[in-house]
Amino acid sequence: MKDRIEEITKHYYTGNHLSSTQLVTDGTGEAVQQVEYAPFGEVVNEYNIDWSSGQVPDFKFNGKELDEESGMYYFEARYQSPPVFISRDPLFEKYPTLSPYSYCANSPLNFIDPTGKIVRISGAAANATFQQLNKSTSLKLKMIDGVVTAKGKAKTDADKLLLLAITDENVIVDINATNSGHTEDGKWFVGGAFEGSEICVDDGKVYTRQTINPNMAKIIDDFYELGEGVTTLHEVLESYIGGVDNPGAGRPLKSANGQVNNPADMQAYENAHSKAQDADPRHKSTIMVLDGSTYPGKIYIKNGWDRKLINTIIKTDPEQ
Ligand SMILES: [Zn+2]
Repeated sequence: MKDRIEEITKHYYTGNHLSSTQLVTDGTGEAVQQVEYAPFGEVVNEYNIDWSSGQVPDFKFNGKELDEESGMYYFEARYQSPPVFISRDPLFEKYPTLSPYSYCANSPLNFIDPTGKIVRISGAAANATFQQLNKSTSLKLKMIDGVVTAKGKAKTDADKLLLLAITDENVIVDINATNSGHTEDGKWFVGGAFEGSEICVDDGKVYTRQTINPNMAKIIDDFYELGEGVTTLHEVLESYIGGVDNPGAGRPLKSANGQVNNPADMQAYENAHSKAQDADPRHKSTIMVLDGSTYPGKIYIKNGWDRKLINTIIKTDPEQ
């Protein structure tokens, strides 16, 4: 009789793709609890609301234990009270464009970081950027919810490096695909902008940041006859190498007089750029001509005597 009681007080937790508890069954296989969540972890539906009542651990969102008294989850470095974190992300000062309460770049629907094998593309120009990336390689790429996956054979060094970027669990390449000529923090760029990487305190993984404008990238591909998608591929590879070789390096900023603010950041960029260049010799660095005598100023790319307008400067702080 005693054995029977122990048997039915055993509980089995079944998780969804985010390891959030979705179904709990007892020793007899009977479903005793079912939970549904909003994207940031609020419980929207519980099948049996009185079920846990302090008798068994209450593992819910992302498989974290819910503290009944506070209504919060403990996420190693921070407390979360759905839908926000209660403690500030210790690195929040480095992400001026993200809320300090966001969770590893704010994509809880698509990503739980322990299984992340990721190149991800977000922003208004995500589809165009993905199409270019797909044309640049012999790999067969797919993008689902902004996450890029690959099949097929990697033929060139660039293919191999791209495949590594897509399958490396420790370095998540984040592409901000935009139609704008400026990054989110208002710095102009030509084709793409290297914005370094951060190490996420929640999972210890590296999250890179690269802005790409596929319209500009196509103008560069055509003007220098590089081949379809070569500029976009270069930007993705550059971002990945930056995250691998110099995790946590910041954006290589220059002040108005052309002085490099942080030489280590500039070195991280130059290293990533030249290794991406070596991996894909089809790529060629653009030669820029800046006509900044009046503002808005014009930026041209140059090839011999040929020039092509590529961007217009609306701020006076030069940036590459
Ligand atoms: Zn580059």
